[in-house]
Amino acid sequence: ASQQKTTLANSTPSLNKPADAGSDSTNTQQSLVQQQGTFGSDEKKKDQSIRLGKSFRIGLSGPPGVGKSTFIEAFGMYLVSKGHRVSVLAVDPSSARTGGSILGDKTRMTELSRHDMAYVRPSPSRGTLAAGYDICLVETVGVGQSETMVADIVDMFVLLVPPAGGDELQGMKKGIMELSDLVIVNKSDGALVDSARYAQIEYTSALKFVKAITSYWKARVIRVSSMGGPEAGVGLAWDTMKEYFDIMESSGELQKKRGHQRKIWMWRQVSSELMDLLHEDTQVRKMANELEAKVLRNEVMSGAAAHQIVEKFMKGMSSS
Ligand code: GDP
Repeated sequence: ASQQKTTLANSTPSLNKPADAGSDSTNTQQSLVQQQGTFGSDEKKKDQSIRLGKSFRIGLSGPPGVGKSTFIEAFGMYLVSKGHRVSVLAVDPSSARTGGSILGDKTRMTELSRHDMAYVRPSPSRGTLAAGYDICLVETVGVGQSETMVADIVDMFVLLVPPAGGDELQGMKKGIMELSDLVIVNKSDGALVDSARYAQIEYTSALKFVKAITSYWKARVIRVSSMGGPEAGVGLAWDTMKEYFDIMESSGELQKKRGHQRKIWMWRQVSSELMDLLHEDTQVRKMANELEAKVLRNEVMSGAAAHQIVEKFMKGMSSS
């Protein structure tokens, strides 16, 4: 409870520095917001204009049933109440290679999806997020490759966990802890508060053994109830995320991270385009089918087969 007392103090939006020419989609975002954004009060207008040009992408992951949509609905409504424009996108692990498909649909975040400051959309197109929204929430289920993919798009990766420790924690992959900048123990309310506290302690000590992503930020564990209003932790979650953003932004780490991510996506795109070209090549495909059969029968080593396929493809390319 004591951690929750402080949530609303110091909650002025801090994505409020002047537009940074180096940041992604600044200009598009600025013009879109200028075209679309109308606020009721003068104060909010001013608040909006100083916030222009900063975008903050937050990844949210966690097992099914942990409360992701409930949290996003509450958190998103809290952010729009502060004058932020919020977009919610989702990445479905079942189609991680193609860039995701429906998950965060409008039926799950009914109030937020109807808000004119929010934009709830099934999936991000490859590596790009919605322009014109200063806070972008990217949701994914905690299974498969999707977390890594999301972690490679967002500024901050947040893991939602249920209020219990021990067994669940043992089953939790170390990999996902390594990606997480913030762990939120959700459902910290009613009869679940004690086990939420226990989980918080367990995750905090587990994080001590996980290598930090950056020397500027140590992953934290907080408790939230997504059903109890801002003071039940949603406000604290935002304060913590803002603190992260400010530290990463002012130290130059965020720009570095985004640059690194752009590089990763460039190479992903290269691989994906090369694979498309390779699969379109009928000669290569024919040969690959034969080799595949041989590899299945263990008549050719997989490495040798791969080599032959690439050679064939390159020959085809140079003669075309
Ligand atoms: P998702 O599958 O991760 O999107 O989980 P949902 O948001 O659909 O929530 C799963 C269940 O947990 C629902 O019955 C919610 O009402 C409940 N739930 C979500 N957040 C909280 C919370 O903070 N406290 C409590 N007590 N229940 C919650």
